[in-house]
Amino acid sequence: MTILGSNPRARVNVNAPEAFAICDRCGFLRNLSDLAAQQQYRGDALMPTGYLVCHDTCLDVPHQFNRPIFLPPDPQPVPNPRPNFWAQETAGTSAPPQTLPGVQTAEDSD
Ligand SMILES: [Zn+2]
Repeated sequence: MTILGSNPRARVNVNAPEAFAICDRCGFLRNLSDLAAQQQYRGDALMPTGYLVCHDTCLDVPHQFNRPIFLPPDPQPVPNPRPNFWAQETAGTSAPPQTLPGVQTAEDSD
């Protein structure tokens, strides 16, 4: 048995020798020039994972779902808002509350 095994995927050229390397994913012996650095999204940029894999069979395409979602900023608040008192409307009273929740008045302290 030779170093290339029974299913050689590495090429040998005595006139232009190349280095051999083992794919980090499939484990086959390949020429180092046939391996590519695997990349994945880290944040919004592609970063190498440190794996050298076969560029024709083992190289994964980085998926877009691994990118972070950037939400737009909140809208500017409206000055002097007039919210709808939906809690009182659902309770059957249409009058707005006389005090804000959590705020004590002089009548409450008596
Ligand atoms: Zn491979």
